[in-house]
Amino acid sequence: MATDYDAPRKTDEELSEDSIEELKTRRNDKNSGKVDEDEVEAAESFELPGADLSHEELTVKVLPRQANEFTCASCFLVKSQSQLAETKDGLPYCVDCV
Ligand SMILES: [Zn+2]
Repeated sequence: MATDYDAPRKTDEELSEDSIEELKTRRNDKNSGKVDEDEVEAAESFELPGADLSHEELTVKVLPRQANEFTCASCFLVKSQSQLAETKDGLPYCVDCV
């Protein structure tokens, strides 16, 4: 049961790890030969904070639009009511677009 909830998170982690893998691959091209230990250390130091951040971002994105939110008529982003700058012709506009 818990596996279903873990699945999308793991996908998100893999996405962020892909970027790290790319960076490491590029760095390996320059330092080919003595990178093995560096690579392991870099992977360990990257993984813990990286995983935590991706979980928090995912939690925010997954939330459905709340009653106290609106969709800006200009940028079409979902914003909280605190970012509602004004309403024109019944359409809400966020502070970024006014
Ligand atoms: Zn906007």
